[in-house]
Amino acid sequence: MEDRRSIKELCIVCRDAMTDLQVDNDQGMRISVCRQCLDASRENFIWICSHCRSVYIRPKSLVFRRLEDPGLMQAYLECQDADVIQGVDICIACDPQGVHQAVAASERANECGGHC
Ligand SMILES: [Zn+2]
Ligand SMILES: [Zn+2]
Repeated sequence: MEDRRSIKELCIVCRDAMTDLQVDNDQGMRISVCRQCLDASRENFIWICSHCRSVYIRPKSLVFRRLEDPGLMQAYLECQDADVIQGVDICIACDPQGVHQAVAASERANECGGHC
């Protein structure tokens, strides 16, 4: 017998493990992610380019250190323990000039993306 609810898909983050876990990010992308990568998102920010689907993982501690805006810093600290997998409109591979603006804009617009 087939159970459609248990169909497994490849984890989009590590592209290694099969998973039946799915999360919706703040841009409404449905992401298949394995338990291991979901756990990793507590320690790391995970960004997924909605254009080419490249995945970028940055340790939160590194991101905190580079933040200069105290308000943004506070927002991050408050949702430090949330699972954060964010979509970015476009990544550095697709648009080397625009990526920093895109990331900064999405961070500012969403603050913690409603995870707090
Ligand atoms: Zn994974
Ligand atoms: Zn891209």
